[in-house]
Amino acid sequence: PPILEILNLEKEYYGNTGFFNKQNVVKAVNNVSFKVFEGETLGLVGESGCGKSTLGKAILLLDKATAGTIKYRGADISNLSTSEIRKLRKEIQLIFQDPYASLNPRIILGEALMEPMIVHKIGTSKKKRKEKVLKILKRVGLEESFYYRYPHELSGGQRQRIGIARTIIMEPKLVICDESVSALDISVQAQVLNLLNELKEDFGFTYIFISHDLAVVKYMADQLLVMNQGRIEELGDADEIYANP
Ligand code: ADP
Ligand code: ADP
Repeated sequence: PPILEILNLEKEYYGNTGFFNKQNVVKAVNNVSFKVFEGETLGLVGESGCGKSTLGKAILLLDKATAGTIKYRGADISNLSTSEIRKLRKEIQLIFQDPYASLNPRIILGEALMEPMIVHKIGTSKKKRKEKVLKILKRVGLEESFYYRYPHELSGGQRQRIGIARTIIMEPKLVICDESVSALDISVQAQVLNLLNELKEDFGFTYIFISHDLAVVKYMADQLLVMNQGRIEELGDADEIYANP
């Protein structure tokens, strides 16, 4: 079966307009269905506000969908309990735009990377965990000294490498990259995209790669979803869609 299957997914946001307490409904995701197969990179592209992040958050079970089904490895995960969701968290991970925002400025990077290992009971001793953190730092192109550095000492590209390190340390299966390189300079973008592609080979990740930037998505994706106003406008082979824009 596909690693992920989305069936008729809907997400509505309710906002109060302030007029006569009338509720304003935004259908951020509208009747979306698609499949992702293991080892594939699915690109999700579309203009800002079309619902990409909302769809990503629904798949991560961070924000419950209004209707529809999400299947992970054939099992319906749309209605899991909080503790079941916590278990699944390790397998489905997010790399977002700027991991700096979620790093504690007073904690060295090495310890920040150890946190998720402790939460998910990865590694049996502090020594083992540290070894693993050093290995992962090296793998994302950061030298050992970064273990002892603080978040503010990082360049944009280095911040994103730390974000990637924190994700891969959990050995997830499905990785959702939401505008993961959008805040970076073009040359740094290319380095980080290449790193993501290498890691996919090493770890056998499946990616859902979200970006408003066509060039970036085209570089990464095998299959492409084009979103427009909450709906899927096109779905298919990346090369074919770009051949007939
Ligand atoms: P994208 O990631 O493609 O930029 P989003 O998923 O962030 O799009 O947003 C889709 C739509 O949902 C937009 O109209 C946005 O204003 C709305 N939206 C997103 N998050 C919320 C929220 N928490 N509450 C209300 N509306 C929201
Ligand atoms: P980039 O082009 O990747 O964004 P920067 O110009 O931001 O790089 O940073 C270049 C170098 O300076 C990097 O190696 C980074 O580690 C270092 N650096 C950036 N900010 C600081 C800081 N506040 N303290 C110490 N070193 C820093």
